[in-house]
Amino acid sequence: MQACMPISLRLDGAMSREQFDSQFATEEACADYLIKLRWPEGYSCLRCGSGNTGCLRSRRLPLFVCRDCHYQASPIVGTVMERSSTSLRVWFLICFLSSQSAFRMNAAAISRAASVTYKTAWLILMKLRQAIAASDARHPLTGAVTVNSAFASERDCYSNQRNRRDAPVLIGATFHESGRLHRLKIKLVPLPHMEEKRVLPEGTAAFTERHVTAGSFVRSVTARFTARRNKLLLPHFERALQWVHTTYGGIGKKHLQVYLDEVCFRLCAVHRGKSCFSSFVRLCATTTPFPYAAIVA
Ligand SMILES: [Zn+2]
Repeated sequence: MQACMPISLRLDGAMSREQFDSQFATEEACADYLIKLRWPEGYSCLRCGSGNTGCLRSRRLPLFVCRDCHYQASPIVGTVMERSSTSLRVWFLICFLSSQSAFRMNAAAISRAASVTYKTAWLILMKLRQAIAASDARHPLTGAVTVNSAFASERDCYSNQRNRRDAPVLIGATFHESGRLHRLKIKLVPLPHMEEKRVLPEGTAAFTERHVTAGSFVRSVTARFTARRNKLLLPHFERALQWVHTTYGGIGKKHLQVYLDEVCFRLCAVHRGKSCFSSFVRLCATTTPFPYAAIVA
């Protein structure tokens, strides 16, 4: 039994495939990175909190053993990767490939690039999306918030669906003083909150209550979305829809919200000038698992 050695968490903003392959060449390197990410001060027992622990290194993943209560845990316990038989390196590689925005990788492209089945790529990407959505729910907009209604049109988002109709959304955003995008949310509006093509006041109120911090200044325009009424949000909304359309093609309403959450997360990272890779790994490492049924439902 040996202590797990700490490693550096620093990742360069834009990492090349060669750099990725070099830094995360082995399962052990990925596990060490994950352990440092989850327990920067060193592992303490997940059951009793004791720091009196050891680490078995004889398996694919290290196994922490508590010397006080004898509880055993692998570094993926309690994360979206829990119970996954896919190697950590593949999880990391898919996070990396998915963060390469230039390639706009969907599950089919990632399954080829990572040499895994389509099902494995799809499932990991969906778990990543669920982790992004959970993070989005934990981080409401705050400060001066602009809210506008719009329609994610069938042409852009789910062109292959039967019963075609536009999906009403509310867009909320905050901006830096320079005008640069800070945070962006695009949320589907439930039909009871709609009256024909208009979002009812209770729809805007529900959005604000759920996605904006109390005490924020909210400027809301929920009349028909036009470039004239809100030129601040339009380019970001169009870019988000274009991304979803060109990367994923037709998406059914069932999964549309998690895709919208993902693209908002990506767009904000782009505006911060950051790669999503370290964020994706962090989200996988710090988000509690979802039931499989919730992902495929
Ligand atoms: Zn313990």
